[in-house]
Amino acid sequence: MGLRRSGKSSIQKVVFHKMSPNETLFLESTNKICREDVSNSSFVNFQIWDFPGQIDFFDPTFDYEMIFRGTGALIFVIDSQDDYMEALARLHLTVTRAYKVNPDINFEIFIHKVDGLSDDHKIETQRDIHQRANDDLADAALEKIHLSFYLTSIYDHSIFEAFSKVVQKLIPQLPTLENLLNIFISNSGIEKAFLFDVVSKIYIATDSTPVDMQTYELCCDMIDVVIDISCIYGLKDDGTGTPYDKESMAIIKLNNTTVLYLKEVTKFLALVCFVREESFERKGLIDYNFHCFRKAIQEVFEVRMKVVRSRKHQSHM
Ligand code: GDP
Repeated sequence: MGLRRSGKSSIQKVVFHKMSPNETLFLESTNKICREDVSNSSFVNFQIWDFPGQIDFFDPTFDYEMIFRGTGALIFVIDSQDDYMEALARLHLTVTRAYKVNPDINFEIFIHKVDGLSDDHKIETQRDIHQRANDDLADAALEKIHLSFYLTSIYDHSIFEAFSKVVQKLIPQLPTLENLLNIFISNSGIEKAFLFDVVSKIYIATDSTPVDMQTYELCCDMIDVVIDISCIYGLKDDGTGTPYDKESMAIIKLNNTTVLYLKEVTKFLALVCFVREESFERKGLIDYNFHCFRKAIQEVFEVRMKVVRSRKHQSHM
């Protein structure tokens, strides 16, 4: 959610539809509630509800209770290049309404379009928005509501990074995934590994070493290269087949003695690793460990599918 022209549609198009940031200049502003399912093409089984800026909570035709009840995270976009007082008032109203319906929602505030701000200005804006939003909650005796803030822009990878963090909070198996990644990298001499949702380039988990933005950007670029080349040259002559399948893998050697290694894990997920050249000489070991890792990941999600299915079954009874 967010005010008109804050950048909601652009974010959605750039993250989930590979639109280039410059093309968003010609997007029409959102003026009706749009709902989009991204569960068919992506690991992340969620819906995006793009709300026009000014929804009227008092409009009886708009059933916000129904929407908020089933919501895991509410992302509120604030245009940092504009005067944000109105946005803050709107944020407060939205958060308090949503919290009443569903106190388990994660509130995620994207302080957006920060590409136009200097580094100092960015920090100052974040501090100011953080302070005002929390003061408003305190004035309403709702300081127990927790808001998370992110500085984002569609012109760099910050929007993907922020979305990754938002999505990770909604994955109940995250600690298991992190644990598996830790075991995998420490036994294979790998520096860093990310588990990516290929379509959106959201990383759903990484090992517990710190994330360095440059490393993350390189991994995103690698996914783009692999998928683009596959789409152009990897499909059959009649255009059938998929650009990403069980056989998908790629190795890119960089000029700083690092190797990027990508491998398919599931239909939607890929593992991208950073490996030193000398460690990559033991590729047999890495591949063997990867084989075990992949099996474990599939088991984790099989358990989840079974749980979901049995829940559905119970609710039908
Ligand atoms: P919506 O009404 O909230 O859906 O807003 P739009 O997605 O239509 O975006 C409004 C304008 O903001 C467009 O011209 C976008 O190109 C621009 N915009 C969106 N994100 C960014 C960003 O990260 N940086 C900059 N500088 N402009 C952005």
